[in-house]
Amino acid sequence: MGYPHPSHPKETVLLSKYFGDPGARTYAGWIERGGYEGLRKALAMPRAEVIEMVKQSGLRGRGGAGFPTGLKWSFMPKDEGKPHYLVCNADESEPGTFKDRELLRWTPHAVIEGCAIAAYSIQAQTIYIYIRGEFTEPWRIMTKAVEEAYAHGALGADAFGSGTRIDVVLHRGAGAYICGEETAMMNSIEGKRGNPRIKPPFPAQAGVFGMPTTINNVETLSAVPHILTRGAEWYKGLSLSSPKSTGTKLFSVCGHVQRPGNYEVTMGTPMRDLIFDMAGGMRPGRTLKALIPGGSSVPIMTAAEVEGCALDYEGIVAKGSMLGSGGVIVMDDSTDMVRTIWRYTRFYAHESCAQCTQCREGTAWTTKVLERILSGRGKQEDLQLLLDLADNMTGKTICVLSDSCAAPVVSGIQKFREEFDAYIAGARRPVLAAV
Ligand code: SF4
Repeated sequence: MGYPHPSHPKETVLLSKYFGDPGARTYAGWIERGGYEGLRKALAMPRAEVIEMVKQSGLRGRGGAGFPTGLKWSFMPKDEGKPHYLVCNADESEPGTFKDRELLRWTPHAVIEGCAIAAYSIQAQTIYIYIRGEFTEPWRIMTKAVEEAYAHGALGADAFGSGTRIDVVLHRGAGAYICGEETAMMNSIEGKRGNPRIKPPFPAQAGVFGMPTTINNVETLSAVPHILTRGAEWYKGLSLSSPKSTGTKLFSVCGHVQRPGNYEVTMGTPMRDLIFDMAGGMRPGRTLKALIPGGSSVPIMTAAEVEGCALDYEGIVAKGSMLGSGGVIVMDDSTDMVRTIWRYTRFYAHESCAQCTQCREGTAWTTKVLERILSGRGKQEDLQLLLDLADNMTGKTICVLSDSCAAPVVSGIQKFREEFDAYIAGARRPVLAAV
C-alpha cells in the first residue's frame, strides 16, 4: 500500500487524508485534526435539518447500491416510540474491494463520528458496527477508538452534553460473504444464521429485532462529518460530471496494474486516469484487456469501454456496468477470461446461502458447466445453457448474490465469446483436469 497520501496529484484527499498517519487513530489526534466538529454541530441542529443537509449534498451509498443517503435516513419513522437502530456495514467482503478496511484502520474516529451523526438523525440510540470476521487489526483499532470515544464523552448517555444517548456495539462477523447483504447482516446481529430476508418489509419498517433500522456503509458514513463541517453545497460541488454523483470516492485498484492500492478521486474523474496514471498502467509489455469496475458482482468492461468512461454512477452505467463497491479488478492481455469467470462463479457457489433454488442450483451448475468447458469437454450448446441459467438467476431471488454470479458470465460470453469457443473447439489447451 502506497503511503503517505496523496500518492498522486490527481487524487482528492478527503477520506484518505490521514491514511498512513498513526496520530489520526487516537481521540486526541482526531480532535487535533478537526475531528468530532461535525458531530457537535449535528447535535445542536434539529434532526430533520441534518437529514436535509445530507440529502442536499447528494451523498449516495458507497457500499454498492448507490442509494441516496439522506433519502434513506428520511424513511425512518418519526417519534413512534419504538427503538431505532443504525447499522454500519463494515463487512467488506466483495472481491477486489479493500477501502473500508483502510478507513477502519486509519480513521476509526471518522467512522464513529459519521455513525453518531447518522444515529442522532434517525433517532437511534444504538449503533451496531458489523465488522468482517477476518478484519483482526481493524477490529482492535476500532475497539480502542470506541473506548476512547466513550471516555471523552462523544458516546454514551449524554453525547457531548447534548442529552442524547448514543451507544456503539462492535459486532464481529464470522467470515460469510452473504452477511454483507443488509438483511443477512441483521439476522447475524440477532444471532441467527446469516440468511437474507425477503423485502418488504424494508429495514426502515422492520429491521434489527423487528425495529426500524438504517444500514449504511463505512465509506458513506465516513463522508458525513465532512458534509456537516463544510456544508452540503461544498460537497455537491465535488463533481466533475453528473450532478447525481457528488463528492469523492475511494477506488480499490487491484490486478495487473503497476501500483495497486486505494485511490480517492472526485466523482467523474476519467477511469483512464485512475488506471493508467494513478495506478501506473499495465505491467511492462502488456496491454489492458478488461476490467470489472465494482467488485466481482458487476458486468465486465472491455478496454474499449474504459475509454471515455467517467468514474461515477451514471458514467459506468452508460458503459454497461455499475460502480458497485468501487473495487476495480484490472486484467491485462495475459488473462484467460473463461478461467477468471469460473473463479468468480466458484466463489458465488461457495458463498450462496442456498435459500433460493435459482441461486443454489444456478451458481453450482454454472460453475460445473464452466469446469466442463475448461477441461476440454465443453459443447457449443453449453454457452446457451450458461445464458439460460444466468437468465433464471437474475431478478428472481431473495438477494442479488445470484444476479452477481450471472453478471460476469453473461458479459464474459457477450464480450469474449471467442475464448469460450476456443476451449470448446479444442483450439485452446484444457486448464482443468476432467472429473
Ligand atoms: Fe441466499 Fe442466493 Fe437466495 Fe441470496 S440469492 S438469499 S444468497 S440463495
